[in-house]
This record gives sequence, C-alpha cells and structure tokens, in this order.
Amino acid sequence: MSLFEQTAFDNHEQVVFCHDRASGLKAIIAIHDTRLGPATGGCRMWNYASEQEAIFDVLRLSKGMTYKNAMAGLPMGGGKAVIIGDSKTQKTPELMRAFGRHVQRLGGQYVSAEDVGISPADMAIAAQHTDYIAGLEGKSGDPSPFTAYGTFLGIQAALKHQTGNESLNGKRVAVQGIGHVGYHLCRHLHQAGAQLVVADINQEALKLAVQEFGAKVIESHNIYDEAVDVYAPCALGATVNDDTIGRLKAGIIAGAANNQLATDAHDEILKNKGILYAPDYVINAGGIINVSYEHAYDADASKKQVEGIYDTLSQVFAQAAQNDLPTGIVAAQLAEQKLTAA
Ligand code: NAD
Repeated sequence: MSLFEQTAFDNHEQVVFCHDRASGLKAIIAIHDTRLGPATGGCRMWNYASEQEAIFDVLRLSKGMTYKNAMAGLPMGGGKAVIIGDSKTQKTPELMRAFGRHVQRLGGQYVSAEDVGISPADMAIAAQHTDYIAGLEGKSGDPSPFTAYGTFLGIQAALKHQTGNESLNGKRVAVQGIGHVGYHLCRHLHQAGAQLVVADINQEALKLAVQEFGAKVIESHNIYDEAVDVYAPCALGATVNDDTIGRLKAGIIAGAANNQLATDAHDEILKNKGILYAPDYVINAGGIINVSYEHAYDADASKKQVEGIYDTLSQVFAQAAQNDLPTGIVAAQLAEQKLTAA
C-alpha cells in the first residue's frame, strides 16, 4: 500500500504507524506541518472498515488541523492521530497507555487531545505516559462552549456579509446535531432571537432543545429541504454532498462539524449556487483557541481571540467576493500564506 500516492497525502512531514503487542493498539499519527509549532490535534478512535480508510482520515484531518491552527493565529502546527478499533468494545486503559507511550516517543513534535471516540478521561490515562496531551480536565475545561461561541459569531459574520445586517432576530436556523457544541450554539441563537429547527438521533437532546429554546424538531435526513436562512451542521462530516447540495434552501452554511464538504468540488458548486459557506476549520476554531491557553489560562484573552473568528471569516468572505472565488479556496490560500511566512 502506498502512502505518498494517496489522494489525501499533501506534503505531510511524518506519518507514524504505532503498534503495541500487549494491548493490541493499532494507531496512526500524522504530522502534517510543524512550521508554526508542534503538530497539535485530537486522537480519534473509530472502527474503520479498512486500514486504507484510517490512513485517508488521518491524512485529511491532520491537514485540516494545520489550516485551523494557522487561521486561528495559534503557534501550533497540524497533526492528528487515529486509533483503529471500536471505542465501545475495544478501548482499554492499556490501549490508552500504549498510545501515550507512542506520543511520548515523538518528543513533542505531536501534541494529542480528545476527539470522536476518545474522552478526556481516556486522555488522562494516556497522559500518565506522555507530557504531550492538551485539553485535560481541570485545565482549560470543555472546549465545546468556545467552539459554539465562535460558530455563533461566524454565523453573524456570514449574515453581515450576505445581507448587510448581522442580526439573527427572526432568522430561521437549522442546527443538525444538538451535542456538546450544538446545544450551546442553540442557546446563543435563541438568545439572539433566531427561530430554531433541530435534528438529532438522540431524543433526549431534542427534548431539551424544544423545552429550552422552543425549537422545531425535524427528521435529520429532511433538514436539507427545510426553508431556512442558515444551515448549521454540528454532527457529522460530509453532509454537503451530491445528494444534499441540490436540496439545500439555506443561503448560508455555517456550523461546527469538521470536513462538512464531501469533496473540494462542492466548494465551487456552493459558490455557483450563491450559497455562502463558512469554511469549517475557520468557524470551528474556538475550542482549540481556548485549549491553547491552558498552560497559563486567561479567560478574557481566550474569549477575545475566539471573537477574532468574526473578523477572519469576514476577510475570507470579502476576498472570495472580490476575486470571484469559492470561500474554501480563499481560506486555504490565506492559511498557506501564513505557513509560508512562518
Ligand atoms: P457530540 O458528539 O457531542 O454531538 C454530536 C451530536 O450529533 C450528538 O448529539 C449526536 O446524537 C448527533 N448526531 C449523530 N448522528 C447524527 C445524525 N445522523 N443526524 C443528526 N444528529 C446526529 O459532538 P460535538 O463535540 O458537539 O461536535 C460536533 C461536531 O463539531 C463534530 O463534527 C466535531 O468534530 C466538531 N467539532 C467539535 C469541537 C468541540 O469543541 N467539541 C471543535 C471543533 C469541531
């Protein structure tokens, strides 16, 4: 199996395959770019259908972290780890310890954190064997409210660009996924006077959104057809794809989910349809910004930097309009400029 010829391979500096005989650990750590600092990004545990799928995921996610950290102005590069396996049945303390030992071996070139399938408690176990874990409990705390706040500001920036008015009063917003981020995003939107349409596969989460925010519940697969001003994906990746893109009624796509576009081609299609897309790694950087402060936590400075997401996105939207380019391309160009200048 070749690595350098993978479609998702994009000048990654180092890709490390990690194994531990005793615990059965099979993990891949991808260090995409360290020009701005140590490669920082979460560790995901997923039951990948094949090793190929895991490689694709870690390559794509680690590059996304390079761009996210660069656009957020953080002194951190991009990296990511994936553990191959079912987090519900195959995750053990021994596995996490083995993962921690592998992270330590990289000597700080890669800094890990929680991600899908991995909890802060799992990372605390890994941290017994490595100095290079961020986002532990008792430090900067849950990043999700910061991600939600940044996403809320990003939605305002998108509205301002598109309509000249950032007010959410009376705007209809569809939030897909009322989890850690989606819940807090709904709270901000509700407080700002938005009408919420929500979808989730978790009935309890939906109940809360109805009770607390007067949200209207809709089946997840029907959310794309809903006549709303903003579609905010906060659950899965790749929800903007060949099937959904023609159905979307929203004029703005702005949410917290990672890798929202199934392929780069969807960026151009959105532009041609007149739908304003807030590039995911720009709008959802609030959590990583807050984590970056954990060594000398300063809540005010962190909040201020999260608020910078509004300006960064406004710049992306303005440049895209000026140059008649899709917003995803412009964000990538700006990120590359920051990397080249480093
Ligand atoms: P979460 O697991 O707490 O919430 C996800 C929610 O989506 C859950 O309530 C789940 O039931 C729901 N969901 C799953 N499948 C669904 C479906 N088919 N239709 C509708 N809902 C569905 O995760 P989170 O921490 O809130 O993160 C949400 C997204 O934002 C993820 O894509 C994550 O990668 C991204 N993100 C999160 C953060 C953060 O700070 N937590 C930071 C950056 C990006």
